[in-house]
Amino acid sequence: MGKTVDLPSVYDPGQVEGKWYEYWRAKNYFAPDQDRDAEPFSIVMPPPNVTGSLHLGHALDVTIQDALVRWRRMQGFKTLWLPGTDHAGIATQARVEEALAAEGLSKYDLGREGFLDRIWEWKRLYGNRITSQLSLMGSSCDWNRERFTMDEGCSRAVREVFVNLYEKGLIYQGDYIINWCPRCHTAISDIEVEHEESDGKLWYLRYPVKDSDQFVIVATTRPETMLGDTGVAVHPQDERYRHLVGKEAVLPLVDRVIPIFADEYVDREFGTGAVKVTPAHDPNDFDMGWRHGLEQIVVIDNHGIMNDNAGSYLGLTREECRRRIVEDLEKQGYLIKVEEHRHAVGHCQRCQTIIEPLVSKQWFVKMKPLAEPAIKAVMDGDIRFVPERFTRIYINWMENIRDWCISRQLWWGHRIPVWYCQECGEVICSKTEPESCPSCQSSQLNQDEDVLDTWFSSALWPFSTLGWPDETRDLKEFYPTTVLVTGRDIIFFWVARMIFSGLEHTGNIPFHHVNIHGLILDSQGRKMSKSLGNGIDPIEVIEKYGADTLRFSLITGVTPGNDVRFHWDKVENTRNFANKIWNAARFVLMNLDGFTPVEIKDAEYQLADRWILSRLNRTINEVTVALERYDLGEAARLLYDFIWDEFCDWYIELAKPRLNSSKKRDRMVVQNLLHQVLMDMLRLLHPFMPFITEEIYQHLPGHGETIMIDAWPVENQAFVSREDEEKMEQLMQVIRGIRNIRAEFQIPPGTRIPVVIATRDEGFAHLLGGNQAYIQEMGRVKRLTVETSLDQKPAQAVSAVTALAEIYVLLEGVLDVDKEVARLEKDLKNAQAELDKALGKLGNQQFLARAPREVISKEEAKAEEARQKKEGIQQRLQILKS
Ligand SMILES: [Zn+2]
Ligand SMILES: [Zn+2]
Repeated sequence: MGKTVDLPSVYDPGQVEGKWYEYWRAKNYFAPDQDRDAEPFSIVMPPPNVTGSLHLGHALDVTIQDALVRWRRMQGFKTLWLPGTDHAGIATQARVEEALAAEGLSKYDLGREGFLDRIWEWKRLYGNRITSQLSLMGSSCDWNRERFTMDEGCSRAVREVFVNLYEKGLIYQGDYIINWCPRCHTAISDIEVEHEESDGKLWYLRYPVKDSDQFVIVATTRPETMLGDTGVAVHPQDERYRHLVGKEAVLPLVDRVIPIFADEYVDREFGTGAVKVTPAHDPNDFDMGWRHGLEQIVVIDNHGIMNDNAGSYLGLTREECRRRIVEDLEKQGYLIKVEEHRHAVGHCQRCQTIIEPLVSKQWFVKMKPLAEPAIKAVMDGDIRFVPERFTRIYINWMENIRDWCISRQLWWGHRIPVWYCQECGEVICSKTEPESCPSCQSSQLNQDEDVLDTWFSSALWPFSTLGWPDETRDLKEFYPTTVLVTGRDIIFFWVARMIFSGLEHTGNIPFHHVNIHGLILDSQGRKMSKSLGNGIDPIEVIEKYGADTLRFSLITGVTPGNDVRFHWDKVENTRNFANKIWNAARFVLMNLDGFTPVEIKDAEYQLADRWILSRLNRTINEVTVALERYDLGEAARLLYDFIWDEFCDWYIELAKPRLNSSKKRDRMVVQNLLHQVLMDMLRLLHPFMPFITEEIYQHLPGHGETIMIDAWPVENQAFVSREDEEKMEQLMQVIRGIRNIRAEFQIPPGTRIPVVIATRDEGFAHLLGGNQAYIQEMGRVKRLTVETSLDQKPAQAVSAVTALAEIYVLLEGVLDVDKEVARLEKDLKNAQAELDKALGKLGNQQFLARAPREVISKEEAKAEEARQKKEGIQQRLQILKS
């Protein structure tokens, strides 16, 4: 029996995925249906860098978002997932500068406008790579609403926010010590500095005390900065230096007179306990200098070159100057000693150049007043972190937050909307370009040269993308957004800033939930990086295995907030899972000839039917609850187990004889169940594996126009029966017991065996009696006898025990016992030989002394395996000989 189906025999994702994505897009299923009155569900996609290409982290990020969005869409929510990209200031500018350099040009050759034209051109050519890769993943985001942080609307939101904050006095310009990258030529934020331990030196320098023959020895890791020293500090409780506090020192080589003072900040354990203070070139010295009113003398310029204040060292690089200074100090007797010293050095995250702390004029956002409501919103539970432990990390950071330096010395980005009057010096902050100075009417106005930190515009993303500052329909319907899904690495960069920005500018939180996921590590638990060469390109995985497989294997094993390892095994296993589903679907389709949906009466269900319906309905409930908790890994696991184990391995197998039976009505019942369970299973799986589910769905009788807007299954409690599940589980235990024995004694699949089941449980005996067919089919049993009072164990029988029964498989007539004994005795000999060999090696002192640890472990494992094998064979022999 069975008919041919038009589902190909082997699943080929390449033939399927692109086709359905096109279809969904063409039908506009990704857009929210705004005419329908339904609860909104919205997510704004964390915008990937426009320079970027998809990595596994994004792939996990979009899989989680897409699964949530598809699930809620099927549930009938008015669903919006808004995509977009970030202009990524430094990253993009650097990329285009590299391209220019290859042509022998610099950005100065093109000038600011010409250079910006080049970047826009570059974006037009290459900026869509990341979005097309997101499409390959199956992302059901509304591309009609795609945004870019530098598009017209987002730029307007940026100016609006800047001017608002400026007018409230929350944006100011100030002298500040900042992290400066001499290569990228811009200020970079604390979180963009990577601190790496490196071997350095500690130089001990002797500073004479003025008008005395005394001196104070200071220790420093950066002797070249001494040219900018404006003080010497000691700890107030340090007895060694109490007599010097209030006196002055004379700076060697420079002869500048500088104060010696006490400050709590000084670490008495470091070096000599006395430190030189360079407010212009060290953030801690900057703070000390501010507390004690010290002068700031800048000696290193923006390029990392010594400037005018460095006197005869003018024009040297930092490194060269250090060499010369040390030489000169030594010659003049000021160098006491040099020690090796390991310490953390800040590097630019982007180019790895050593950071130079510099004092310069920068724009800042005053954080304290903005942080307060942002802390409160989380404390009050208006915004909930999943998992919850990130709440504490967030609050800690927000409570200790420093002002945010928002200016960057780049050309690519949102230019600061501030103009300076060349005539009268008036500073004009305006949303639109002013034509003349409001105080002197001059038209000689110059705009600030700097642009804003990239994160300034991403902080507005949840509302700028919905049309803010206009009161748009999208903003009304979808803001606050439902959930933000993001990696744990950008809580501070981004999440915190969206929260205070949303509260300050819209008066509302930007999202209700923040779902934090971990990083994807390699199989050994290491971070994936270019330098380790252990990165995996998701596009290659998609090309080889399909997007469904990539998505499902990324989700498998994920728990909120925790890192997850990437294993190829997992990918292969998921591919097998996809094939399993495909084959099951083919089987069902082949057996649906004559299928008509019918109303089934309770009495028509067999135990297996009631069981699969109960399991299905419980799975529906459990998967839904897991999704509500953002536990997608658990939802995927539940589905995997239900589909593979319960539906494919049990129910379909149990259904086979009934499909071939002549009882037409029972065949109809089974057809209806197979169809129904398969349909619901596909619906549940759709958010995780959108393509294969759509492909199969479209082949099933009674399908709608697309699975993606078909209704999410709802648990029908009437079908949930713990009792039926338990009964079925008891029968399955018996079948497993029989199958284990068959495997152990290598009984050929074609051989049907006699089985005696002994149980004292009357109910179970009854259950067995009523469902003999299952055991006979699934256990390949010839004759099944159920005994409620078995006095004597059957002869030549192998037994297995379940909670309620003893199972005896009678071997007489099934196996040629003599032959089997001979076979086992031979196996026993081999096992013994393997064991001896392994033990021999492990007893050899030379081997133990020389072999690497893993070789020894391998040998130990071999010995253990052989020992177990031997014991198993001995047990079986004993049974046969009894
Ligand atoms: Zn740099
Ligand atoms: Zn003016």
